[in-house]
This record gives sequence, C-alpha cells and structure tokens, in this order.
Amino acid sequence: SAQTETHGFQTEVSQLLKLVTHSLYSNKEIFLRELVSNAADAADKLRYKALESADLYEGDGQLRVRLSVDKDAGTLSIIDNGIGMTRDEVIEHLGTIAKSGTADFFSKLSGDAAKDSQLIGQFGVGFYSAFIVADKVTVRSRAAGYGADAGVEWVSAGEGDFTVTNIDKPERGTEIVLHLRDEEREFLDEWRLKQIITKYSDHISIPVEMWEAGTPEREEDGETIAATEGQWSAVNKATALWTLAKSEISDDDYKAFYKHVAHDWDDPLIWAHNKVEGKQEYTSLLYIPSRAPFDLWNRENQHGLKLYVQRVFIMDEAKQFLPQYLRFVKGLVDSNDLPLNVSREILQDSKVTQSLRSALTKRALSMLSKLAKDDAAYQTFWDQFGAVLKEGPAEDMANQEAIAKLLRFASTHSDEPTANVSLEQYVARMKAGQDKIYFIVADSFNAAKNSPHLELLRKKGIEVLLLSERIDEWLMSHLTEFDGKALVSVTRGDLGLDDLSDEEKAEQEKQEADSKPLLARFEASLGDKVKAVKVSHRLTDTPACIVADEHDMSSQMIKLMQAAGQ
Ligand code: ADP
Ligand code: MG
Repeated sequence: SAQTETHGFQTEVSQLLKLVTHSLYSNKEIFLRELVSNAADAADKLRYKALESADLYEGDGQLRVRLSVDKDAGTLSIIDNGIGMTRDEVIEHLGTIAKSGTADFFSKLSGDAAKDSQLIGQFGVGFYSAFIVADKVTVRSRAAGYGADAGVEWVSAGEGDFTVTNIDKPERGTEIVLHLRDEEREFLDEWRLKQIITKYSDHISIPVEMWEAGTPEREEDGETIAATEGQWSAVNKATALWTLAKSEISDDDYKAFYKHVAHDWDDPLIWAHNKVEGKQEYTSLLYIPSRAPFDLWNRENQHGLKLYVQRVFIMDEAKQFLPQYLRFVKGLVDSNDLPLNVSREILQDSKVTQSLRSALTKRALSMLSKLAKDDAAYQTFWDQFGAVLKEGPAEDMANQEAIAKLLRFASTHSDEPTANVSLEQYVARMKAGQDKIYFIVADSFNAAKNSPHLELLRKKGIEVLLLSERIDEWLMSHLTEFDGKALVSVTRGDLGLDDLSDEEKAEQEKQEADSKPLLARFEASLGDKVKAVKVSHRLTDTPACIVADEHDMSSQMIKLMQAAGQ
C-alpha cells in the first residue's frame, strides 16, 4: 500500500508557519534562496558520502538544482539530485525543528507581527519559508543508495499537519513543488527567477539551471539558421565563492554567501577572506554576524565553521577550529592538508587542526580589531557578543593582550551604562603618577556607579571601570594586567593611592589615632564576623563600607558562590 499517513507539525513548527505566512511578505523572494541553499547543502552531503562509496552517484555525478515553472498549474519546482531523504528523514526534517531551545524561543514571541518578524530572522525559517509564497507544498524525495520504491511524498498546506505517502521515484534527490498563491505569480516569470538567483545564489557551489527553449529553423538575411534544441543551462556562476580571487568578489557576493553558510537572514558586520600557501595551505572565510542567534547561551548551541577539504564539503559545525569564546564567528575553512576521510575524532588530535586553530583565532581577533575602528559597528558587535568575548582572557592566555584590547566597559568617565570604553582609552586618560587600572564589579550598573568604594577615586578624578555582567567577576580574575598596568578592584585592600599630600597624611594619622577606642568597640561587638575594623580614607560621604582583604574573595564572588550553593 502507499501508506499515506497524516502527521501533526511539532507545535513550534505550527507557530513558525503562522508567523511566516503572516509577517514575512516584505522580503518574500528569499524563499528561493533558502530552497536553493538546501539543495546545495544536499549536494555537499552527497559528495561527502560518495567519497566512501561512489555508487551513491548512481551514474549521475553532475550535481545541480533545477527550477521549473508550470504556468498553467501555477507551480514552481525546485529539483535537486543531492542526497535526498528517507521517509523517516522527511518526517523528522520537515515536521520538527531540531535546534535545542526552540520551545523557549517561541515562548518569547509577542504576537505582534512586526516585532516577531524581526525575531524570526534571528531564528531562520529555512525550508518553511516556502509557505511565504505557496499555499500548498509538495515534496518528493528519494535518498541516495535506495531503490526507486523508497520514494516519499510529503504534502502540506502549511497549517496544522502534513501527509506522507510512499511513492516510486527513480531519480535520486528532492523535488519541491510550490503551489503559488494567486498573488505570487511573479515567481512563475523566468526573468524574475534569474534575477533572484543572481542576487542570492550566484556563488553557491552547484549550478542552478533553468530550461532554455529551443528555436526552430529560421531564415535570416537569406541564410538558414539551424534549429536548436532546448536545454538546461546554468543561470548562476556556480563557483564556490571562497575559491575565487578577492578582486573578483563584490561585497554583495560576500553578503549573499554569508546567508547561505550561516543560515542567517541579516547581513554580516564584517568578513575576512584569506588564502594561505606554503607550509600550511588553506583558505578561510570568516564572518561576524550582526545579531546573536537565539540560542547563543544554550549549552547545546551548534556552532563552529564549515569544514571543506580540497573544496569537498566535510562537515558543518566543526568546533575545533576556533576557541569557545569566538563561537559566534561563522564561515568556513578549506584545508589542503587534512585527509578527505577526516572524522571529528581525528580532527580533535590533529596537528593540522592545532595550527589552523591558532591561525584562525588570530584572524578572527584581527578581524575584530579592524571592526573596532568603526565605533557604531563595533558597538553593535559588542552589545550582541561582548559577553562571549569576555570568556577569552580566561580561555586563551596566549592572546590575552589582543582580546583585552577588544573589551569595552562602562566607566565613571561618562557614568553612562553603555560599555564603550576600551582599556587603551582608559590608559590614555590615566592621571600622572597613576599606575593601576581601577574597576568595580557589582550586581548592576547602578550599584557599581553608586558604590561608596568609588568616592575617593571620584574625588581625585581617577576613572573607574564599572562592571556588572555575570561574567565580569570571572573575567577580572583572569585579566590582571594590561599594558604593564595592574587591574585593581576598588573593593580590595590597598588601592595604592599614596600620592597624598603631607598635610592630608597628618590629618589622616590624627583621625586614626582618635578613632582607636571606637574601632575597639566595633571589633568587640562584631567579633568573628570581621577580620578587622579600620579607619578608611577612601570614603567621603558614606560612613562605612565592607572591603575584602587583598587575598580574600571579593564580595561579588562570595555572592556568586552563595548563589551556587557553596
Ligand atoms: P537548515 O537548512 O538550516 O538545516 P531547513 O529548514 O532549511 O534548515 O531544512 C531542514 C532540513 O531539511 C535540512 O537540515 C535537511 O536535513 C532537510 N532538507 C531540506 N531540504 C532538503 C533537500 N533539498 N535535500 C535534502 N534534505 C533537505
Ligand atoms: Mg536551509
């Protein structure tokens, strides 16, 4: 039997579909980019699998995707001869969303179409974007390596459910038939389709072909011109972008390619494309996104570069090529030194991986320092990814100085919450005789800014960095020096502010002597709760404050430990 089954979409898919059909009109042509991108991915996957068993090609190794229009039926089909899907894979991939944290993400949607369509870009709708323009989608697929009878047909109107039926499909790969809504007939127009492909898919690695009709025999200026046959011909350049010379690639090409590799809808902030020859041979193309993915803080967040070996796609999300604190970097590396049969396990201990990782880390950092020359763009980056980069000084001692230069802080210089002060700027503003960089870590920006610990420094006009992110205590316990200057918490022991005048000193000594009986009474009544009670000269308005000893845990760290149940 054909075994037609009806399946309900995973709740999140239904939510996504509603959003897609109601709020993504403004940029609807991207559905074609998404479907062609999937076809290119399917070709990549097949090429990789075929490294081991070439029979998977079934005698057809010319991987491509075709666009075919039926004006009478009002359908546009996207037909690839890539890896295809089994029945189970169809149900899994076209009925659920595999990313962890998805349910959580959807619970954040407001129901306000305009706002949510912004959020959805961050999520990426992929295949489901077909429903922007189609009110019914039919997918026919047959996985490489299976017989014709392993074909499967998936049909849905993009509402609550879909059906799957077993079919015969002799050709390997996936065919997606979009039954276009009446108002979307522009996508039946060949010129329109060519224009979209050139715009978004010029440099994916497989040809996107359209049918070119033949011409009958005709007479021209007394000459007979022979009839030509119709044929499929590529409408895109179909050369993998990163293999081209930089001079041949426009900014728009880089941006379009980014959307394919990163599965992102927004433009990247910056990219770095490098070809390296010599001892190591590789090409890398790294991008910084302009927006954090919804699952940046999810521990199972998938990240890493796309790995190619000698232009053959090997794997997605190869995490080995960049440290964790650069997990927001997207892109690819194409190595000539790794074996084609490299596995994640081999990658892990490979010398080639080690040296690529160290080279790519430096490239990513230098790309960021280039971005930092543009204040507005860098602020966008920092607001999205700064907290991730702050893991750097602890994780990567070797590049600590370079990372430190990329950090941005709020400070008492402006007393504004925007983190836009670099350590280099701080150092340039240091007072004569000041040899330390002062900071405070507190629970919130206001708590930091209003801390009594700052009073003396404010009085002396010394700038203090104001830190209040969860990661900051961790960051500052690893970042102890910058440009030869110690970073010192103002809540710790001695601040080293002994450039006080003699007059002030005499006054202070008198105060200390006078206060001895009072201090003794405090110590007696506080007992074990404190190490010592001292006269402080760092306060100007507040009567008393608690300080940690030089070698003790800071009060912020104590709070963290308590929160962790220690
Ligand atoms: P993504 O491409 O980000 O994984 P999509 O929503 O675009 O997400 O696609 C979902 C999944 O469906 C893909 O990961 C892939 O497994 C499968 N898929 C989609 N289109 C094709 C295709 N043309 N050939 C084979 N598999 C496909
Ligand atoms: Mg996709």
